[in-house]
Formats: sequence, structure tokens, C-alpha cells
Amino acid sequence: MDPVHIIGAGVSGLGAAHYLAKRGIPSVIHETGSHVGGRAACIRQGAHAFEIGGKNFSSAWPRFNALLDEFGITEFEDQHPGFHIVLRDKLVALEKSKTLTGDLRLASALGPRGALQFRNFLTYARQNADRLNYSSGLIEEVERRWDHATIDRHFTARLNEGPLRLFSIIMGGAEPSELHPSLMMLFASGFGKGSHHAVAGGIGRFHDSLAAGKTIRFGARVTRIKLFDGHVSGIEVQDETGTRMEPVRRVISAVPAHVLRQLIDLPAYGRVAFDRLRYYPLALVNAVYDAPVFRDGVHSIMFEPGAPLGHCSANRLHSPHHVRYTLSGKAARDILDRSDAELVRIAEQTFSKRLPISAKRLQVHVARHPGGICGYAPYFTAVKRDILRAVDGIHGFEIAGDYLEGHTMEGCLTSADLAVQRLVTAPSQSSAAAA
Ligand SMILES: Cc1cc2nc3c(=O)[nH]c(=O)nc-3n(C[C@H](O)[C@H](O)[C@H](O)COP(=O)(O)OP(=O)(O)OC[C@H]3O[C@@H](n4cnc5c(N)ncnc54)[C@H](O)[C@@H]3O)c2cc1C
Repeated sequence: MDPVHIIGAGVSGLGAAHYLAKRGIPSVIHETGSHVGGRAACIRQGAHAFEIGGKNFSSAWPRFNALLDEFGITEFEDQHPGFHIVLRDKLVALEKSKTLTGDLRLASALGPRGALQFRNFLTYARQNADRLNYSSGLIEEVERRWDHATIDRHFTARLNEGPLRLFSIIMGGAEPSELHPSLMMLFASGFGKGSHHAVAGGIGRFHDSLAAGKTIRFGARVTRIKLFDGHVSGIEVQDETGTRMEPVRRVISAVPAHVLRQLIDLPAYGRVAFDRLRYYPLALVNAVYDAPVFRDGVHSIMFEPGAPLGHCSANRLHSPHHVRYTLSGKAARDILDRSDAELVRIAEQTFSKRLPISAKRLQVHVARHPGGICGYAPYFTAVKRDILRAVDGIHGFEIAGDYLEGHTMEGCLTSADLAVQRLVTAPSQSSAAAA
């Protein structure tokens, strides 16, 4: 049987290969980089495993947890119990367990109106968590009611500087003035369910299990998806031997939307839909020190608007000497082209204003993510319909990725599973023509 060609070895591409393999269908993954995992990769450097992006998951995510079971991955580490937010120049604690029951300290920091708005928002997200996704339809109702304006226009100023910015920075890499309520609602409901953990030893164990037995061509960059008569006819691949056209009949794209947009010709409405998706680039610095950097009950800090650091946390609850600095948000985007050393210096300097670092740095790794955390557009349900309609018109072609079914590893796996289902159930070109 001809293999399905998958572009990208991130969670979406590996997931697609896995769901194809379950159906006995072989695949070949083309990956431009030298490792699997993409924006959720785990890079080994000396004795350390640096998780350079996505790593946390919820016990309520069905596909992700089913795979953990299948791979026999049973050791997890708990998430931080809360965050500290720089609010009006002070570090204010936001404990996850107390936000719904009512936290007096938070209420006084947010003011009565802000505290009430925050509680209502979280209550709605939690109560409707099972229906707030891109399949059930309720998210479309949220879009209709709220997406006419960005988040900052719906809530009080203190709420926007504090907890809501925490959501938008941590989960979108963007400011409340750049995102719309539907995305915030998806984040709050997706992460509001179940308990939250990371894989002990690093998310790399998950990717390695997913990649086992798959054919992956590293250093192979797909530069064009060729179409003939409405059908995929080939892919142009660039690798160390040069550029060549490979005749292929079935392709799943598992690259971010802004990359795919450059690879394929789509009808005008499809191009418009893709162009509406925005990505917010960021950089992630992992640094290991010879002594704890986090202390005094602080594990995670969100910095103030205008700071080049969006957010920063101990890599794990029990590793206060391993720090993940995320340079995200508007101010960070202006400096992402600086050298790695300069990004590290800026991150440590900004952090030290809140929690002075006296430890010595032993190891550091800098990762840049042009695709940020996720691709996103307001009124996304309609945008997605146009994207899928445009892709549907091309025989032998499907898409998976962070921009389709939710902006987490679970969303990526869901999109991969659905892409495989669509690919195998699509009528062949000849039967479609006969009909
Ligand atoms: C800092 C950060 C923190 C995050 N935290 C979490 C979290 O805690 N939990 C969670 O669930 N999610 C989290 N996410 C989101 C999650 O990591 C992403 O949704 C997910 O990794 C996206 O996977 P993907 O496979 O769709 O895309 P990618 O990971 O971007 O994979 C695409 C792959 O395609 C390759 N590629 C690109 N162009 C080409 C080409 N032309 N030819 C061949 N290959 C190509 C890339 O090298 C890459 O390997 C986080 C993301 C970031 C950046």
C-alpha cells in the first residue's frame, strides 16, 4: 500500500502517523528539523532534558491519556498549585484551588467588580467545560456573544492586567488586547477540567513512544504541495541532497497554518480564512542553576505588561533550580531577533527585579517559536468551516494542527485523528467523478 506522506513531526504529525498505523496504513513523515516534538519537543543536553514548549496535560483529555496508557507511561509530576502575578508592582498570589471558592487577597487586588467578573467567567467555563470545544457548537454561541471585541474591552482594567492576562500570556503568548473571549473561554474550560500533570522525566518519553516504528525523514523540508486536476500529485522536498519532486497521492499537513499557507494553492476564500489566523511568536529559555532560584512559596510568576518576560516558572514543582523563562507578549516580540545570549541576559535581569538570582547558571537552552503557542482567529468556527471546505475540495489532502480542534496537545491529537478519518473515508477521485 502507498504510504501517506505527513509534513511535520510535531504532536499533530506523530499523532497522524499513529492513527494511520492503527488502521494498518503506512506513513512517511517529512520533518525539516533534526528531532521530533516540534513546539512540544524535549531536547537532551548533557544530563538535562529541556522541554522547549508544551508539556502539561489534563487527566480529563481522552486521547492524550489513552496514549499514555498504551505506552505504559504512568509516572507524572504535579503542576504548580498557583501563580504569582505582578499586579501594581506587587507579587500577588493566585491559588488555583481558591479562585472559585473566593480568595480575599485576590478580591482585594482585583476590586469587587473585577473579582465578580472573574468568578462568573470561570464558573461559566467550568460548568460548560464539556461543550466548549470546536465540535459541540457552544463555542460558536460564545463567539457570537463576545468576539466583537478583544478581551480587554470586556473586563475591568485590573482583571486585564492580572488573571486574564495570565491566561492570554501563558496560553496564547499574547496580550488581552490581541485576543478575543472565545479563545480565553476555550483555555479556561480545557485546562479547567481534571488534574494537571507533566510526564516524569520529560514529555520526550511521550514523543519517543509515538515515533517508535514510524518512518521519519529528518532534515527534509517540504517546500511545495503539487496539485493536478484537484488531486495531490506530488511534494517538493528539500534536503541535504538538493531539491526534488516526489510523486505522492495522499498528504496530511501537520505544520502550523502560517507554514501551510505558503505550500499549497487554495481557492480565494480558503486563502482569506488562513490569513485570518494569527500566531504570536515567542522564545523559551530553559536554564539550570546550581541552587534554587524559586523560593518562599513562589513557583511561577507572570510579569507586568511592558516587561519582556511574559511568564516564568520552575520547570517542575520540585525543581526550583530549573527555570523556564518565556519571552512572550508585545514587548517580547520586539526583541526576539536578538542573540541567544542577549535573550538570556534580558530574561534573568527582568526576573531578578522580582526574585533576585544569586545562583550560578550551569546550562542554558534557547528555543524560538515563530508559531508561538497556537494559531487563532476570532469567530474561529466560521474561519474553520472555510478552511475545511477549501481543503475538502482537494483529493488526497488533509490537515491536522494546533489551529483546528483546540490549542493543546489534546487538540492536536484530535485534529490528527479526524484528519485520518477524513482521509480514509473520502471517496477516491475516480468514484467521485463517476458520481
Ligand atoms: C511555550 C509553549 C508552551 C506550551 N504549553 C503547552 C502545555 O503545557 N500543554 C499543551 O497541551 N500544549 C502546550 N503548548 C502548545 C503545544 O505545544 C502545541 O499545540 C503543539 O506542540 C503543536 O504541535 P503541532 O504538531 O501542531 O505543531 P508543531 O509542534 O509546530 O510541529 C510542526 C512540525 O513541522 C515541522 N515543519 C515546519 N515546516 C516544515 C516543512 N516545510 N517541512 C517539514 N517539516 C516542517 C516543524 O519543524 C515541527 O517539528 C505550548 C506551546 C508552547 C510554544
